[in-house]
This record gives sequence, structure tokens and C-alpha cells, in this order.
Amino acid sequence: MASDPNTGFDDARAALVDRLIERGYIDRPATERAMRAVPRHAFVPDPRREAAYRDRPLPIGAGQTISAPHMVAVMTDLLAPAPDDDILEIGTGCGYHAAVTSEPLDEGTVFSVEAEPELARAARARFARLGYDVRVCVGDGHEGWAAHAPYDGAYLTCAPETVPEAITEQVRPGGTVVAPVGRGQQELLRLTRRADGSVERERHGSVRFVPMRATGVDD
Ligand code: SAH
Repeated sequence: MASDPNTGFDDARAALVDRLIERGYIDRPATERAMRAVPRHAFVPDPRREAAYRDRPLPIGAGQTISAPHMVAVMTDLLAPAPDDDILEIGTGCGYHAAVTSEPLDEGTVFSVEAEPELARAARARFARLGYDVRVCVGDGHEGWAAHAPYDGAYLTCAPETVPEAITEQVRPGGTVVAPVGRGQQELLRLTRRADGSVERERHGSVRFVPMRATGVDD
């Protein structure tokens, strides 16, 4: 019997999202819809496609790793992007996480900064091919992306020692930053900028992300 090569992936993705819900990783319906919609297999390198719907991190080249699906779901729930939000992402990687974030956006856009030119180029090509409105620039995420600030929210997919000030400053008062933070031991934090400029911190458990690299530093 002939079969559509995507059918197996669709079924595998549906089963994965069902499991993530059972395990309590997804609270918001918008996150569930995004996780059901984005074809993770189309973002990972060809030899990894069969593994795309296991709840595992996967290597994506240039020594980098795509986060496990449950981590993308948890971070999307914490960020809770609204349809007209502009969101800053640090660490485009293969682009999967940005595609999930962009799924509930309508007027809003994801602006993503990637340090590795080769990954940025490949992600741009993928977004164009799959029809995702995600803008990518090659740069050091420590600087954020000032040209499109202020953002309604921001998140990092690589772990800094502390959240770079430029990033919190580029988020509007009331906006949210979701980030894995720490060297060695990392913790997932959600920071909310208050109107008076102070920052509220919530802790969301231990995580393990690739470290944020010091690139573009002149000294
Ligand atoms: N969100 C990605 C996962 C990326 S892994 C996905 O869905 O595929 C983390 C990424 O952060 C890597 O691509 C790495 O190159 C990038 N990165 C590391 N340090 C960085 C920095 N200082 N600025 C921007 N990107 C950085």
C-alpha cells in the first residue's frame, strides 16, 4: 500500500503531544495548538527525522542541540505569546522553537538572534520554505536586537550566567523574559518587568541548555 511520507510524522506528532499533555507539560490551548501544528521533523537534519517525535533533545549541527519538545512546550506556556506580540528569541538554532512561538502570532513577529551564521542561514531558508514569519539576524544575543525593541516578551534557548541587561531592557514594562540561567547548574526563570523598572523573578526548576557563548566581544 502506498503511503504519504508525511502521514507517519503526523501520527507521531499527535501521539507526542498527547503524551506531553498527559504528563502535564502543556497548560494553554494555544501552546497545544502550536505543538500540534509545527512539523518538528522538517527542522531537524535529515538523518534525525525518524527521532523528531521522541521527547528528546537532538543534535542540529555546529555542536548545538535542539531542546526536547516538552521544554519548548513549557517555555511557550510561560511566555504565553498573544496574537499581536513581538517576541525576541536568542538562539535560533534550527528554528523549531521560533516556529512554535510564532504559531499563535497574527500581527506580531518573532525576531531571532543566532551567533552561528551557518545555522542562521539554514533557519532562514526553512522559515521561507515552510511559511513562518520569523526574522533572523546573525549576532551576539547578549546585545538583544535593539532595532525592533520594545518587545512584549523574550526568551533564550542558550543559558547565560545571568540574563543580559540589554535583553530585559528591550522588553516593555509588563513584558516577560523566559530563560535558562546559570553555569553548570541551570534554572529556568521567568522574569516580569514591572512598570517601576524592577523585575519579578519566578523559578521553574532545573534545566540543561547549551551555554550562551561570548561572541562578538572585542577584548
Ligand atoms: N531554539 C533552538 C535551539 C537552539 S540551541 C531550536 O529550536 O533549534 C541554542 C542556540 O543558541 C544555538 O544555535 C547557538 O548557536 C545559539 N547561541 C549560543 N550563544 C549565543 C549567543 N551569544 N548569541 C546568539 N546565539 C547564541
